[in-house]
Amino acid sequence: MKGIADLFGSLVFNDEVMRARLTDDVYKALKKTMSQGTHLELDVANVVANAMKDWAVEKGATHFTHWFHPMTGITAEKHESFISPAGDGKIIMKFSGKELVRGEPDASSFPSGGLRATFEARGYTVWDITSYAFIKDATLCIPTAFCSYSGESLDKKTPLLRSMEAINKQALRVLRLFGNSAVKQVTSVVGPEQEYFLIDNEMFQKRPDLIYTGRTLFGARPPKGQEFDDHYFGSLKPRVFAFMKELDEELWKLGICAKTKHNEVAPAQHELAPIYGTTNIATDHNQLTMEMMKSVATRHGLACLLHEKPFAGVNGSGKHNNWSVSTDTGVNLLEPGRTPQDDAQFLLFLVAVIKAVDDYQELLRVSAASAGNDHRLGANEAPPAIISMFLGDELTEILEAIESDQDYVGKEKHPMAIGVTVLPHFPKDSTDRNRTSPFAFTGNKFEFRMLGSNFSTAGPNIILNTAVAEVLRQFADHLEKSSEFNSDLATLIKDTFRKHKRIVFNGNNYSDEWVIEAEKRGLANLRTTVDALPEFVSKKSVELFAAHGVFAKSELHSRYEILMEGYCKTIHIEALTMIDMVKGEIIPACIDYQGDLSKVMKQKKECGEFESMLEEELLGHIAKLSSCLLKKLTTLEAALLESQDKQEIFAQAGFYRDRVFTAMAELRLIVDQLETLVAKKHWPLPSYARMLYSVV
Ligand code: ADP
Ligand code: MG
Repeated sequence: MKGIADLFGSLVFNDEVMRARLTDDVYKALKKTMSQGTHLELDVANVVANAMKDWAVEKGATHFTHWFHPMTGITAEKHESFISPAGDGKIIMKFSGKELVRGEPDASSFPSGGLRATFEARGYTVWDITSYAFIKDATLCIPTAFCSYSGESLDKKTPLLRSMEAINKQALRVLRLFGNSAVKQVTSVVGPEQEYFLIDNEMFQKRPDLIYTGRTLFGARPPKGQEFDDHYFGSLKPRVFAFMKELDEELWKLGICAKTKHNEVAPAQHELAPIYGTTNIATDHNQLTMEMMKSVATRHGLACLLHEKPFAGVNGSGKHNNWSVSTDTGVNLLEPGRTPQDDAQFLLFLVAVIKAVDDYQELLRVSAASAGNDHRLGANEAPPAIISMFLGDELTEILEAIESDQDYVGKEKHPMAIGVTVLPHFPKDSTDRNRTSPFAFTGNKFEFRMLGSNFSTAGPNIILNTAVAEVLRQFADHLEKSSEFNSDLATLIKDTFRKHKRIVFNGNNYSDEWVIEAEKRGLANLRTTVDALPEFVSKKSVELFAAHGVFAKSELHSRYEILMEGYCKTIHIEALTMIDMVKGEIIPACIDYQGDLSKVMKQKKECGEFESMLEEELLGHIAKLSSCLLKKLTTLEAALLESQDKQEIFAQAGFYRDRVFTAMAELRLIVDQLETLVAKKHWPLPSYARMLYSVV
């Protein structure tokens, strides 16, 4: 095997390759466009495209594609080969600058939420020059943004890039106020921890629910679940180890810094975390990671489940979005500083995040909303649907001391003076951890823990970046006018914390008391996706995103429609799958087993044995449950039919949640009881126990 250093990035057209394969002038022009967003001349693009093609062909690529993130939740690609006729029936390999920088896929088949009339089906993909091209499946993939003919974004990358620009602009204004003129760029960075399940592929193939919906719609509780917490950080099973090893190698080839891997809390559950990086690249990489997880799993006879809640009764999977903001001079703005002046700057950025999370808590909740994630949030395994922040005792005490003009007495009990130029010097707090908090400060970054495992990290970071940008804008507006910078700064930090400290909660977020306490504090508790999504098109949201050029009102409304429709479609497909499974597999299994039992009873009677209590009782049970099953099936079918009468999307989504979903839960209850009665050889679906303990 090649060394990791050779392997790493070997399928990426990265800086090293560019430097080696481009002339100095072209390289410099490209770098300038990358760092400053200047226009890329076509002649430069042509040279770059040609070099990329040569490099890719040497690596075995035959095709290229613009690789983008439409609103489907997965990435999209349309492969085109490099071949071009050269006369004499011969071909040559060609790739032009025009093909590199811009594509025109038919946009009509992607969700647009009514943005684009069907006669305007044209969409454009535009090269995101800040994210390197790479090779996947013998195809050169160009990361691109995707927008409509009239320039409205139809993807997740465009608004993400806009939000990164917003936070860059406002953070720079704030840094200038601290006399910092060296920093040219401020970037939000992300390290997503990715949870997933691995089960045996043969079992996966026998579960239509997993195939069509990603989660089990039926399944009785296994005798052993996660009671012992014996899976967490446990040693890796050989098949899992082999999978992880190959996955690491595939990811390294793509330049993805896969760093940690371990078993998670639930049986068959695992986690992978890369080293953090620039948000849009981290997002691209996370999409690739999820895709790679699925394909490597298949090669190992496994199926990788990325649904937020594949199994009822055991933990679901989330994604932890570790987020911070850093400068091109290498400073993390959320890192407590070494000098009082640095600390003042840190505290200002810290209270900016506190205010942003408080002011835009509903939007952060929206960013974690989906039909699948509704199963997790508030279910004692993931944070509740209430947004709050964990700061840790020490930082909270410091802020409280500032707020009340008290001296902060640190752990060593030395009083620390709190003034304007002399803010307390404090070590970063890395000791206490709170795993129940949706938004936790962990020393020099915030960890947003509400995301579902299959989420793109684009959505939450668009909101986080924009919300923080807005607060920084307000701070900069205020402080730029100040003639007494230091005292105004101290007052601003103090007032901001005072006004927004309700969002800080260091206790147990899973407790019932917190729900009551949060309500007293006036925090939003948007329990389901249907409750949350309307916040996306609220006046506050429209104003926020418009002010920073992240979403126009029409773009927001289109996304609202897409998300609501997605919610309805998800439940609709789940309901149809349930109906199909019950009719096609579960009822026949019950009938078969009932047949077996009657046969035994008949044989016994023929032998003059009239004691067949067991068979009779079982038959009675199953017959009763079966008739109940039929009733529940009819109710679900009727609810599904009725759902189609609802014209307005919000009403329809509400109906799916309250009626269809309830009918599904009732149907499941009966099926799960039947599973415990019907002989295993007749039951068509692999059990929870078999799936969760299938990989050794
Ligand atoms: P855990 O939260 O499980 O203790 P780590 O502290 O190792 O895990 O970090 C988890 C993720 O956070 C990793 O992807 C890591 O690269 C990322 N991370 C670490 N520091 C930062 C930072 N300053 N900004 C953003 N992400 C970070
Ligand atoms: Mg973590």
